[in-house]
Amino acid sequence: MFDLRSDTVTRPTAAMREAMARAEVGDDVLGDDPTMNRFEARAAELLGKQAALFVPSGTMGNQVCIGVLTRSGDEIIGEADCHILQHEAGSASRLWGATIRTVEGTRGLMDPAAVKALIRDPGDIHYPRTSLLSIENTHNFAGGVILPLAYIDTMVGIAREHQMAVHMDGARLFNAAVGSDTPVSRIVRDVDMVSVCLSKGLGAPVGSFVAGSAEHIGHARRVRKGLGGGMRQVGILAAAALLAVEDGPAALPEDHRRARALAEVLAELPGLEVDLETVQTNIVIASVTGSAWDVETAFADAGVAMFAIDDGRIRFVFHRDVGDDALDATIAAARRLFS
Ligand SMILES: *Cc1c(COP(=O)(O)O)cnc(C)c1O
Repeated sequence: MFDLRSDTVTRPTAAMREAMARAEVGDDVLGDDPTMNRFEARAAELLGKQAALFVPSGTMGNQVCIGVLTRSGDEIIGEADCHILQHEAGSASRLWGATIRTVEGTRGLMDPAAVKALIRDPGDIHYPRTSLLSIENTHNFAGGVILPLAYIDTMVGIAREHQMAVHMDGARLFNAAVGSDTPVSRIVRDVDMVSVCLSKGLGAPVGSFVAGSAEHIGHARRVRKGLGGGMRQVGILAAAALLAVEDGPAALPEDHRRARALAEVLAELPGLEVDLETVQTNIVIASVTGSAWDVETAFADAGVAMFAIDDGRIRFVFHRDVGDDALDATIAAARRLFS
């Protein structure tokens, strides 16, 4: 079975397991874990931020950032299909008392005028404070779209004009960097906080990190503790995380090449629709005319696991644990199922 359900299915490499077994550890809640301290310093350096903080999951990473950057009753602006709204169990409201107002994007990108139109008059006490703009890079449910730098700059500009903070859900930040040949530090240069997944295409077994100013990360450390995310001898995870950020990005171009190759075949088949412009990284989303759930089952029967993401769309995600044999098998199955 080839597993294209998500890039979260990647397993730690032999080198990672070796590094984990040998990792020097200490109590990280007390600041004593040397491997974690090394990882957090390296992550901050790579992103060009003052500080970074390891968290157990991407969801906790995003929620720690929202916890730092909003107060109860605040409003967040984000794209309609964003992860913080659709896939985090309602936590912006559950945990922080924040609501999310959305702009329906075009290929994941929000119209700047539409964003501006949602920002409330801070002088009117009827309104929540519009305090945070959240952008997702790459945009998962838009098909792995990379946010162009000009778009990020525009969004940051709007936020600054209105004294709003900017959060980047950079779950696949390194895919964006590799796919656009741009340093990660440039992509996140002007955002207040960013969260990045280590356990997707980068291959770590567990974890994400957030980065930002020393002040924000200091606050984030308290928020993480409050969420139960303060962990002890976590150097065994930091050892894998270090390899994920150092060696992980080198594997991503192959994932992007395979996704593109599959998308170009799918786009030609009857009964499937792929917007090739969205296929910029390791994700392929296709619309189907029948039930996407039935298509998911048919692919599974053909030895290819993937997800229907709603009743009309299917998603394939390439990652370092699948090669050209998976690509070939998926293409063969697609040609059989849609001809
Ligand atoms: C995967 C993902 C996350 C985090 O997910 P976890 O499963 O909690 O690690 C956040 N944002 C986006 C866009 C994602 O794809």
